[in-house]
Amino acid sequence: MALRGLARARALYEARDDRARELKAQGKRIVGYLCYFAPPEILEAAGLVPYRIRGDIRERVTDADQYVEPYGCPFVRNTFDQAVKGRYDFLDGVVMAHSCDSVQRMYGIWTHYRPAAFTHMVNVPHTVTPASERFFHRELGLFKERVEAFAGARIDDRALEASIDLYNRTRELVWQLYQLRKSDPPLLSGAEMLEVLIAGGGLPAAEFEELLREVTAEVRSRRDGPSAKRARLLFYGCINDDVTLIRLVEECSAHVVMDDTCIGARSLLGRVTNGDDPLAGFVRYYFTGFQCPRTYRGTDRSRFDYLIHAARQFQAQGVVLYILSFCDPHKLDLVDVRRYLQDAGLPSLVLEDDYTLTNLESMRTRIQAFVEMVA
Ligand code: SF4
Repeated sequence: MALRGLARARALYEARDDRARELKAQGKRIVGYLCYFAPPEILEAAGLVPYRIRGDIRERVTDADQYVEPYGCPFVRNTFDQAVKGRYDFLDGVVMAHSCDSVQRMYGIWTHYRPAAFTHMVNVPHTVTPASERFFHRELGLFKERVEAFAGARIDDRALEASIDLYNRTRELVWQLYQLRKSDPPLLSGAEMLEVLIAGGGLPAAEFEELLREVTAEVRSRRDGPSAKRARLLFYGCINDDVTLIRLVEECSAHVVMDDTCIGARSLLGRVTNGDDPLAGFVRYYFTGFQCPRTYRGTDRSRFDYLIHAARQFQAQGVVLYILSFCDPHKLDLVDVRRYLQDAGLPSLVLEDDYTLTNLESMRTRIQAFVEMVA
């Protein structure tokens, strides 16, 4: 019998590229992307299948060591290691954005040593000003033209509007699932939520929408949801594309009820405005309003106000700050964000990792102590 709902999400999460390979076998062209600054809506509108490139935290970087120096973002090194090992041989295209210098550098190495039929880098400014917004708008126009050339057809306005509507619907459904984590205990665990979101990154948006509808219906009527725990936490930080760490936090008698990470609230909630100028809608959603530390927003600590708002909305009593080694954008913000949270009365715990989670047991002890402190 075909799996549905949470069971289907788990299966898709575990066999992360099976569906993309199936679609490829049916003649679809699959384009991998590393960050939402290259909006997947544009790829979908061109009839391509966007696939969010993941690392594999369970696998040590080995082969990529021949090409990339060791002192760089361990996440992007790991994704390239997967490519070198042939795990991304189903990709027809690879699209990256200047999210940070690590990704920019990896784009050059990746496309040189593992060229794909279609490759593109979206330039993203690091400050938000009227001029940088205009620049990013032009960058998106160029991205759209390159996608059209690869797809062999113009993306017509109606196709782009339909794609934006589809992605807006998925984000609305994700938000509905987030709402189901407001109760105590939440109806959906943080690990289950992340499994659903990661699974969605490997699916065409229409299939993700269908999955979200199944999961929402199941969760609303479930009787086997998470049991009561001592604390409610918000999970903030670098990319987290594996559920192991969230599971660990939840094993330590805490619910992860909200997050601020790339595969989560930072990029999968809210709406792209679908008006006369869709690219302007992308600029507003993916650049101006995108709360990622890779974009400089001044030194005023009020730039973190949205975090307190999210913590209060979901009644989080503390924050886990997950930081990857060599991640300059997050590390530069770390001191400020900790002070800000402390001043707002929210305790925080920093968990630093090199994208291997080999220090899981020492993390367990620290999380247990943190939960005792905040509960
Ligand atoms: S974790 Fe940090 S360094 Fe790595 S890709 Fe993300 S922003 Fe860049």
